[in-house]
Formats: sequence, C-alpha cells, structure tokens
Amino acid sequence: MNIGIVGGGQLGQMLAHAGQKIGHSFKFLVPPGECCVESLGQVVHSDFLDHRMLAEFARGIDVFTFEWENVPLAMLEALATFAPMRPAPSCARVAKDRIQEKKSFQDAGLRVQKFAAVSCQADLAAALEHVGVPAMLKTRGQGYDGKGQRRIVEKSHAALALAQLENVPCILEAFVPFDFEISLIAVRGKCGVQAAPNATPIATTIFYPPCRNQHINGILHQTTIPAEGVLPSVLQSTKAALQNMMETMDYEGVLCVEFFVMNTPDGQQLIANEMAPRVHNSGHWSIEGAVTSQFTNHILAITRQPLGSTTTHGKSVMINLVGVVPRVHGPIENVAVHVYGKSPRAGRKLGHITAVGENAQLLAERALNGY
Ligand code: AMP
Repeated sequence: MNIGIVGGGQLGQMLAHAGQKIGHSFKFLVPPGECCVESLGQVVHSDFLDHRMLAEFARGIDVFTFEWENVPLAMLEALATFAPMRPAPSCARVAKDRIQEKKSFQDAGLRVQKFAAVSCQADLAAALEHVGVPAMLKTRGQGYDGKGQRRIVEKSHAALALAQLENVPCILEAFVPFDFEISLIAVRGKCGVQAAPNATPIATTIFYPPCRNQHINGILHQTTIPAEGVLPSVLQSTKAALQNMMETMDYEGVLCVEFFVMNTPDGQQLIANEMAPRVHNSGHWSIEGAVTSQFTNHILAITRQPLGSTTTHGKSVMINLVGVVPRVHGPIENVAVHVYGKSPRAGRKLGHITAVGENAQLLAERALNGY
C-alpha cells in the first residue's frame, strides 16, 4: 500500500523502516525545514493548511496516519476526504485537548486527578477552589515533553502562571504525589476485513507490557520493561478500561496512555495523565525487545492486517540520547543504537539505545559510558 504519514520526525522514520520491510511505500507531509525521512519516500513540504499541497500529498495514497497530533485538525479532516485516516481525526481531537482527554478517561472508567477548565483569568478562583494546591496549570493543547505547564504551589501565583502561558485556554489539575510513572501501549486493529470484504470487521486490542518511565526536565530519559511494582489486578482493570475507551473511539492503530502510579493505604491507584494517539517514545524498545514492534503493529493495524505478537524477549531498557550526538565505540551484544540523523540542539531527541536481556540495565549503562 501507499501510506501517507503526516509528520517527518523520528517516529515517521521508524514507522517507514518497519512498513518498508513488509512491502509498503511511504510519502510524508512535513512542515518546511529539516526532517529525517528524506531517504524513505517522497516528502511534500507544506505549512499544513495549503489545500493545493494537501491534494498533492494525497495523490496515490491508500491510507493516512499521523506521527504527531499537534497539527491542525482541519488538515487531518481534509486529508480524510481523500483516503481513510487511521486513527480517525476524531481520535486526534480528543488527544489534542487535555479536558476532552480527561473526560474520555473518566467515561471509560479510568481514574483521573481533580481538574478544572480555565478559559481566562476570571475562571482561576473557582478552579483553584475545586482543585486546591499544589496544582499543575497546563495549556489545553499543544503541550508535549513538559512544555506549556507551570506548577502552582500558592494560589496567589496562579494568575502570573496563566499570564506566562499567554492566557490561552488551560486545565488546572491536582499535583499527583506519584511513586512512579508508567505508560501502557495498546494496539487496536480490525482484521478479517480483507479476507472477507462483506464480513463485520473483528476488532482486536492487544497490549505491550507496562513501561516504567523516568523523565528528566519533562523529557523521557529511560524506559524499563516490564515495569516492576504494578499490581496485576490493577493492571488488568486498567487494560479493560483502556480497551473500552478505544472501542468507544473506534480507534485503529497504536495508542499510548501515561499513568501516575500511587501506592496508598487503600491500595494502588493508576491515574491516567495523558494519551498519545500514535506510536510513542516509551515503545521504542519494542523494535528489538518484542516479537513485533509498536511500529510494525501500527502499520498492520492501519492497513487492516492481523496484528503481530507483543510478546517480549525478556527485559528491555531504552535510554534516549538527548541534545548530543553519541559516538559509537563498537558493537555491544544485545545493545542497539539508533541515531535519527537530526542536527543537535539542546533538549532535542537525537537517538536512543535499547538493551535487551536479563542484564539490560547494565548493558545500557556500559553502552552509554562508552560514548
Ligand atoms: P505531561 O506533559 O502531562 O506528560 O507532563 C510531563 C511530566 O510532568 C509528567 O511526566 C510528570 O512527571 C509531570 N507532571 C505532569 N502533570 C503532573 C501532575 N498533575 N502531578 C505531578 N506531576 C505531573
């Protein structure tokens, strides 16, 4: 198939690597400037709202997907008139707005922290009254890697924080004194469609093991798989709720949800923080660490092929390479180094390493110290 990807960063790069191996071709819609998919297919550079360029991008495409949801919704909707967009633009709509996101979590039976919408300075007092302090004030849209958020420790500081976020629509949410953070990566696909075109599609949702994530300055630093310390019963009910949510959204593809894990005297709580309607940084380990990577499974789901196994090859550790281009000193067994080919800049994700096996943490550290 000809697959059109909106975005041209490392997620698009790894999606194309996976998809080319199973016979697909790729075309990318990328804003003007640098991208890292030039060698992987035709790249259409456009500011996303130029309809002539959208039609050019859409020519010959069988299915669209996106590797970045902070793009204009109208553009995703316009593209979906040319060929199916999977996941559908309505899924991006939910994920682009932190209030809608929290409501979807709640409707599916997932636990969320107290929150309130803040549209302007006049809303602040009531929101602070409901949520209390400490709290996080975050922009409703366009946030990623901890950008667009302020911690509020004293109520009197909230007005300044909102002004610093340029008085855009925000969400105020309770600060969660979590023990650790995890993400759950799910894939939902409709197989059986190609075998029997008139049959009702059978939807399947499968999960990778929970990933335990550590952030530095709001950016993912390390992911460890499987996440230790998550109670099986809590995990099971959370997965059931997530599956429920994906069914309601009629989601197709990979979805990642990040959770705060809190061990309380009343038991363990998983608090849904945010979702990414796409392949996710905390799933990069799956290239080497699972039978089928998140990238291959996303391609299988959006092309409506049966999904691949998410069984792992034991433990994995993934460490992001942020801000500096690493020097590779030599191959280390069971360690893979991925360098995306982006120009170095402080805080920019330039690559990652994955170590697999019982000694994954040790191997990952050895690989890094070699740099
Ligand atoms: P986010 O952009 O929502 O993923 O936030 C980035 C990081 O900031 C999270 O991974 C947490 O480490 C931290 N953070 C965000 N929201 C909260 C919260 N309500 N309570 C505690 N920590 C938070």
